[in-house]
Amino acid sequence: MKIFPAVSIALFFFVLTCMVRSNETDIVKISDDVYAFIAHGPGRDYVDGNSVLIIAPQGAIVVDTRTDPKTAEEEIAEIKKLTDVPVKYIVNTHWHYDHILGNKSFRDAFPDLTIIAHSNCLKEMDQFVPNSLGREPGTSQEQIKTFRQELASGTDSEGKLLTEYEKTRRQRVISDIESFIAHPLPVYSPPDITFDSALTIYLGDLEVRIFNPPGGKAHTIGDAMVYIPARKLLVTGDVVVAPVPYALGIYVPGMIKTIEEIIAMELDVIVPGHGSVLYDKKYLHNMVTLLGSAYSKVTDCRTKGLNVDECIEITNFEEYRSMFAGDDESNWSFTNYFSVPVIRSIYRKEP
Ligand SMILES: [Zn+2]
Repeated sequence: MKIFPAVSIALFFFVLTCMVRSNETDIVKISDDVYAFIAHGPGRDYVDGNSVLIIAPQGAIVVDTRTDPKTAEEEIAEIKKLTDVPVKYIVNTHWHYDHILGNKSFRDAFPDLTIIAHSNCLKEMDQFVPNSLGREPGTSQEQIKTFRQELASGTDSEGKLLTEYEKTRRQRVISDIESFIAHPLPVYSPPDITFDSALTIYLGDLEVRIFNPPGGKAHTIGDAMVYIPARKLLVTGDVVVAPVPYALGIYVPGMIKTIEEIIAMELDVIVPGHGSVLYDKKYLHNMVTLLGSAYSKVTDCRTKGLNVDECIEITNFEEYRSMFAGDDESNWSFTNYFSVPVIRSIYRKEP
């Protein structure tokens, strides 16, 4: 793991998102009492979420607990180097695996801690997480087998030649899955306390506001964001994902409303759910433009009476691709995590 002082981060913004090595994390010092653990590239198949450490003499808060016990334990070891105070609270920003599967590791390391989440986040965790934890190794073994065959033949399942990026991606997935399988499976560890609209924690003088986005439904139906007014710092969870917005299963009008509300907040630092720390709001403005365009294009499809597949067939966002995606894995993410999923999300979620 590396520690980058905040001042140099702007220079590293693009580079960091491209530095993709298994289970690596960059620790960004935002202030003397706040550190961001920036997970490896958001374009990965084996996705890992960012995490944030807030330190006060009365105890520490950690926002999100990473994607598996091994990664969480690596972060806990780093936290213990940064502070002697125990972690008192965990905030889960939403129920997705890459943000909550380290909960149990944190609980084991800090037995007195309390895990906080939105009430709908707990409902979704209970619904989706416990029954799926055991499935990973089986499906992953199949994936490894398929990717090994494709690498050996140099072609994909349809016989198309693999590009260098596609080869690298397959090698990386194999290595990530092998690392996952080599470690104990995560144990489900749900929140202890839920909130509906907002909850404020006072660690001495440090006020930490936890709130559901003003858009209500945004990335999920149970998002939590964390705001520290004294640091003008917002931790967004996956409402903001950089350098390419994540659109699988999102609620587009709620996302737009939420991002607009974030833009109106007094902020110096924004820690997204994936990707590098943001020090201005340019990316948020780009997100509003892109999501607004998606909503309007899908509205046109509906006006023409097209179904979702017909809309996907005739709709693209190529005019925005260069604004978000470079020649690296971001480009793959733009297609796979945004262009098509956003259309499906709007069709699925909107009346
Ligand atoms: Zn995520």
